[in-house]
Amino acid sequence: MVLLIRYGEIHLKGLNRPYFEKLQRQAIKRALRSFEHAQVEKGQGRFYVLGLADEEIPRAMDAVAKVFGLHSVSPAVEIEKDMDAIRQGLCKLAEEYMRRKGLEEATFKVEATRSDKRFPLKSMQIAADTGGYLLQNIPGLTVDVHNPDFRVYIEVREQCYGYVDIIPCAGGMPQKSNGRAMLLLSGGIDSPVAGFSIAKRGVELNAVHYHSFPYTSEAAKQKVIDLAELVSAYAGRIHLHVVSFTDIQMQIYEKCPHEMLVLIMRRFMMRIAERLAQENGCKAVVTGESIGQVASQTLDSLVVTDDAVSMPVFRPLIGMDKLEIIEIAKKIGTYETSILPHEDCCTVFVPKHPQTHPVLDKIKEAERVLEIDRLVEEAVQSVERIIIG
Ligand code: ATP
Ligand code: MG
Repeated sequence: MVLLIRYGEIHLKGLNRPYFEKLQRQAIKRALRSFEHAQVEKGQGRFYVLGLADEEIPRAMDAVAKVFGLHSVSPAVEIEKDMDAIRQGLCKLAEEYMRRKGLEEATFKVEATRSDKRFPLKSMQIAADTGGYLLQNIPGLTVDVHNPDFRVYIEVREQCYGYVDIIPCAGGMPQKSNGRAMLLLSGGIDSPVAGFSIAKRGVELNAVHYHSFPYTSEAAKQKVIDLAELVSAYAGRIHLHVVSFTDIQMQIYEKCPHEMLVLIMRRFMMRIAERLAQENGCKAVVTGESIGQVASQTLDSLVVTDDAVSMPVFRPLIGMDKLEIIEIAKKIGTYETSILPHEDCCTVFVPKHPQTHPVLDKIKEAERVLEIDRLVEEAVQSVERIIIG
């Protein structure tokens, strides 16, 4: 069996197309790196994965379905380019499908495409011929060209491929096709989804996580590593920078008004993220914030947070409701890890009444008592780098 992979938007990219296809091929190879004999070949507007054992197919399909830039994948059988072989090949596929689904009776349709114009029959003729053959040879089948229970596909290309199933992939654009950004990754529900969303458009991810040891535990850090791993199944390799944030939090707690604590802290997170972004070739900072979700995410608060850095800050979840975010988190498989009950550095030093309508000048004045540059520098120096995926 082979995997037949269709890709989407890179068709649109004109002269860049070979470059995008190269990235796409690399991403597929990477997703399949644990399959020793898998080979990824490029055909006309398709990729093919050869060399997989039949029992490896379901797992390989799962891995491929996570690769951004791909449209769909089908497990296909290679069939000899000969009408007799095609008839028999499709008959076998239809029988297997009915057996697998426990169907005694079903309606079907054959869909044929032919890109090899030397093949003697046109696609309509191939479909009519094989459809007739299936009707005669499989009891319980009837044709329904408008709304069939299942479709049997035959593509006559460099090779002939037959298949029944088409599994949708993640969509988006190929890994690393759109620069690199620094994701602020907490252990929560939102930031992994934000990372997924931005990586979906081909942005390579670095991530920064702030921890407040000993107030936050080793287990809390491990949870973030686990989340980064889950995101990297889609996003590719992620360089995770773990920064010790305890000293900064203590200083803010001691020296600044408590109702401003969260925002001053968030401004530090941004500054450190921007510094690490610059050092690592990232052109933007990404967070999981959405308007109004918590006090630090009112529009006024976001303006204050943004002011701390000059790099663009992208917030892909900005207009989403929590329930919508949760739905994506479940779909991409990060939700169960995100809800594990570990403390976050943000939850360690929370004031009772955080400001929701901060005034930028007042916040700036309050943080002036801190040695901002030195604290940022020390935090950046403390970074532990972990390569994920
Ligand atoms: P999440 O579910 O992502 O934790 P949240 O709703 O809990 O989000 P906040 O804790 O206010 O919101 O954090 C907002 C954003 O700030 C997060 O989405 C993340 O991008 C970043 N962030 C928060 N805490 C940390 C942390 N400890 N390390 C790195 N980034 C963080
Ligand atoms: Mg959080």
